Amino acid sequence: MAVVLPTRTRFLLDEERIPRAWYNIAADLPTPPPPPLHPGTGQPIGPGDLAPLFPMELIKQVVATDREIEIPDPVRDAYKLYRPSPLHRARNLEKALDTPAHIYYKYEGGSPSGSHKPNTALAQAFYMKDEGVERAATETGAGQWGSALAFAGAHFGLDVKVYMVRASYDQKPYRRILMETYGASVSASPSLETEFGRGVLRDNPDHTGSLGLAISEAIEDVMTHPGSKYSLGSVFDFVLLHQTVIGQESIEQMELAGEEPDVIIGCAGGGSNFAGLTFPWLGRTFRGGKSYRVIAAEPEAAPSLTRGVYAYDFGDTAKTTPLVKMHTLGADFIPEPIHAGGLRYHGMAPLVSHLKEIGAIEARSVHQLACFAAGVQFARTEGILPAPEPTHALKVAIDEALDARAAGEERVILFNLCGHGHFDLSAYEQYLAGTLEDYEYPDEKVAAALAALPGVG
Ligand SMILES: *Cc1c(COP(=O)(O)O)cnc(C)c1O
Repeated sequence: MAVVLPTRTRFLLDEERIPRAWYNIAADLPTPPPPPLHPGTGQPIGPGDLAPLFPMELIKQVVATDREIEIPDPVRDAYKLYRPSPLHRARNLEKALDTPAHIYYKYEGGSPSGSHKPNTALAQAFYMKDEGVERAATETGAGQWGSALAFAGAHFGLDVKVYMVRASYDQKPYRRILMETYGASVSASPSLETEFGRGVLRDNPDHTGSLGLAISEAIEDVMTHPGSKYSLGSVFDFVLLHQTVIGQESIEQMELAGEEPDVIIGCAGGGSNFAGLTFPWLGRTFRGGKSYRVIAAEPEAAPSLTRGVYAYDFGDTAKTTPLVKMHTLGADFIPEPIHAGGLRYHGMAPLVSHLKEIGAIEARSVHQLACFAAGVQFARTEGILPAPEPTHALKVAIDEALDARAAGEERVILFNLCGHGHFDLSAYEQYLAGTLEDYEYPDEKVAAALAALPGVG
């Protein structure tokens, strides 16, 4: 049968096609996820428990069941600085792989800070400012989230304090400088600025830090600075919600391309860019539409979805957050310092974990060297240098395309290229020099961390 191939390579939308609402998957889920619990009482938490940390509008979004949650005009106007983001067909990569598969990618690296993170940073900064909050404290792993919140703070006139995981702080000084250029104040975590950080440093002055530890510092900071609230760049339901602009745009763009994906892939650290791309598509399935294979790609060095347990656990190392049911490697787990800093988290978003549990999504873990090889191949074919995190999605997309070749199948693959790697060149340098290593799944460290699970629910 003769097939007329579409010849376009980029699929762009006009500014007025920026979504007017975020998509709330809670409206369409076949079963609801287990609720977050108060660590003291073991009972479901209420809005009052979260009020010291978050603006009220965000707390309302967590419990909302409406399918659409309106995007405030000032946030939508700010989105116009970089949205709608482009959808590309990776024709040159397809050719290099000699595959009949069609590979599409949504590119979020064109945002001011270089990733998908401003989609929620702008929303969070807006709601804080709107409710009279003057200062936000947060953590950052690879520096992407800190950069995004620093940018959003500059946009809405909010002071920003960032606790940056020590390993990244040392590896990526330019991320810190970007945050400071936007006006944020940045400390390496563990720091001397919190009681928790001082305690950790007392025991181990060379501690390389972790996201869980930096979260504990940021939360302590908020509790000790009146007029401050806490902001976070992943995991929480409202963060995933704000990212759904990605998937909604991609649905329109795939229509422009005249195709439907068979496979949809995102890398998953805490799960927000993965959710942002895939939830609007999954919603169509839940409402009776076509089913897609949806794959979360994660690092072999921190494989929460593929090797973790599904249990109630804390989101941070000091065990101050509510207990959430998620795929976890244990809150005490400190992953190896792989370069995909954004994927070094012990847990996974409860919503993403729930979808895995009910069989709506799959997960795959990949090694860092194979991911960098994919990143280099992508740079040489498509021209964009990916951040280390989305090379995990890219690697799985390439594997799918090769599998389609072996099967002689015209598979349509869509993945999220959620950030560029211009601040990750030292990692690429190591890869090109042949000094980058893979880390095996850290059996014993995970077993030790899991032994300390709170044992609730
Ligand atoms: C933060 C970040 C991630 C990991 O976070 P998710 O919530 O899983 O998306 C992945 N890629 C990039 C580029 C990031 O900045």
